[in-house]
Amino acid sequence: MSNNKRIDLHTHTSASDGVLRPSELVNKAMEEGLSAIAITDHDTVKGIAEAVEASDKIGLELIPGIELTCREGYREYHILGYFIDYKSEKLIESLKSIRSWKVKETMSIKDYMAMITEAGGLPVLAHPAEYGLSNADLEAIIKELKSYGLVGVEVMHPSTPSHLEEVLKDIASRYNLIVTGGSDFHTDMHRSYTLGIMNVDYEVLSQLKTARLSL
Ligand SMILES: [Zn+2]
Ligand SMILES: [Zn+2]
Repeated sequence: MSNNKRIDLHTHTSASDGVLRPSELVNKAMEEGLSAIAITDHDTVKGIAEAVEASDKIGLELIPGIELTCREGYREYHILGYFIDYKSEKLIESLKSIRSWKVKETMSIKDYMAMITEAGGLPVLAHPAEYGLSNADLEAIIKELKSYGLVGVEVMHPSTPSHLEEVLKDIASRYNLIVTGGSDFHTDMHRSYTLGIMNVDYEVLSQLKTARLSL
């Protein structure tokens, strides 16, 4: 193993559809030798408080996050939000309201991006390979999201085929976006989604922190 500190910026707990409680996930990350993790449950921040408490106890760095499911027309995109203010009442209200499909129908991807940025979060496009888009369409959506405040693209993800990796890194560099990554860990049953499997370097987190300072 290298001396580089490893992190995982995409994990799920039992607050959404993961199997581990937030505190269990934090302890597991520590056991696996990770330096930091982001908890990014689907459309909820309910697991964050417990994770923060557990990580404070053992000295693991925890980034409060979320993964929003954004429907626009017949398309669905997932947007990660890092360093989100999980105590924000406005955010908590918005998360409640999008449980209604009637509300969801009226929301644009720009609205979802605003939910993250208004709560102080850094929006990142999750697992770009999963949308079945051509390279040109991928670039178009990334360009659009960038105009709403996108800061990064999750290139390092178990779903990214190697041929797409360079394409995405090229798009990210042209739009001045951070290349991020994570395992999308839900359970140990899915071996290619094992916690920490993407070997993301701590440097990625440093870049996100720098981006945060310039908000
Ligand atoms: Zn997702
Ligand atoms: Zn996910």
